[in-house]
Amino acid sequence: MKKILITGGAGFIGSHVVRLFVKKYPQYQIFNLDALTYAGNLENIADIEKQPNYTFIKGDIVDAPFIDQLFAEHQFDGVLHLAAESHVDRSITDPLSFVKTNVIGTMNLLNAAKTIWQGNYEDKRFYHISTDEVYGSLGAEGLFTETTAYDPNSPYSASKASSDHFVRAYGETYGLPYVLTNCSNNYGPYHFPEKLIPLFINNIIQNKALPVYGNGKYTRDWLFVEDHAVAIDLVFHEGKNHDTYNIGGFNEWQNIDLVKLLCKIMDEKLGRPAGTSEQLISYVKDRPGHDLRYAIDATKINKELGWKPSVTFEEGLERTVNWYLENQTWLNNITSGAYASYYEKQYS
Ligand code: NAD
Repeated sequence: MKKILITGGAGFIGSHVVRLFVKKYPQYQIFNLDALTYAGNLENIADIEKQPNYTFIKGDIVDAPFIDQLFAEHQFDGVLHLAAESHVDRSITDPLSFVKTNVIGTMNLLNAAKTIWQGNYEDKRFYHISTDEVYGSLGAEGLFTETTAYDPNSPYSASKASSDHFVRAYGETYGLPYVLTNCSNNYGPYHFPEKLIPLFINNIIQNKALPVYGNGKYTRDWLFVEDHAVAIDLVFHEGKNHDTYNIGGFNEWQNIDLVKLLCKIMDEKLGRPAGTSEQLISYVKDRPGHDLRYAIDATKINKELGWKPSVTFEEGLERTVNWYLENQTWLNNITSGAYASYYEKQYS
């Protein structure tokens, strides 16, 4: 029986990874460690909470004595580290909390893994999940590859870049077995509605303005979250030790085009006349330090591990819209703040 720690499993991507691992690997004991910040929501994984191979632990990765004690008690064989402060706008107003969770928190996990494994690294693995934002901004041409120099521009990406460097440094300095992935923007079910796609779906439902930064020409590469979870499973099990993989959708969209596509889908779903939702678009003052374009070259993971996205953007977006329309209670619980009481109801 392998003991696997997944951090941040009550968040957006983490919940998909926890679900995949709990269902696919009944022989593993999966521990989900999450502090349940504003972004952590146990309703995201309510469907698997009774599974015999699943345990939820509420705790903060910034708390080093707690993390040390947790590792000593459970002697994890593998760590998939997703817990993070993840919202760029929040990192602009409160950068220090990003340093605490993303840098210090990662350090605490690295130290605890190093301590319990004590150089006996056979069948052990520390997997750090990171973002393409560490590479900074691209012009109109080119793609980020695994050898692109780091050039972070926001406090969020700077904190993730720093944590990536520490993971690599622990590999080089102490031989800690690690893998690292840098992925493009995810979208899909259970996405917290402060991020562009779920925010706009919610605003369209409620007939509220759709705030588009600057001139709307910012370009992002989008990947369906379940495809990211599949890539994470593959890299965790088959990725080369001490190596990095870029993960992306080969799917670049300028924000304004994405918003217009979303408006079109929403008009159809809600039975509104074509063009209704587009009238809600409102251009707002730009985000400081806004990166113009991110685009991932995912050739390496494709060639070495055979991974590629399984759904097109149009399919993924339609599935996402359907999910939000069918799960209005989940959405209402978040927007009203009621989701925060789920832990007390279920676990106390
Ligand atoms: P999220 O904000 O939805 O979830 C983060 C989770 O971490 C939450 O459940 C939160 O409660 C938990 N958490 C936060 N601080 C914690 C702490 N101190 N201790 C324990 N738990 C804590 O984030 P996400 O979008 O699911 O992203 C997950 C990971 O993937 C992050 O590391 C992020 O940098 C990376 N990533 C995200 C994207 C994306 O598009 N969302 C793309 C590439 C990489």
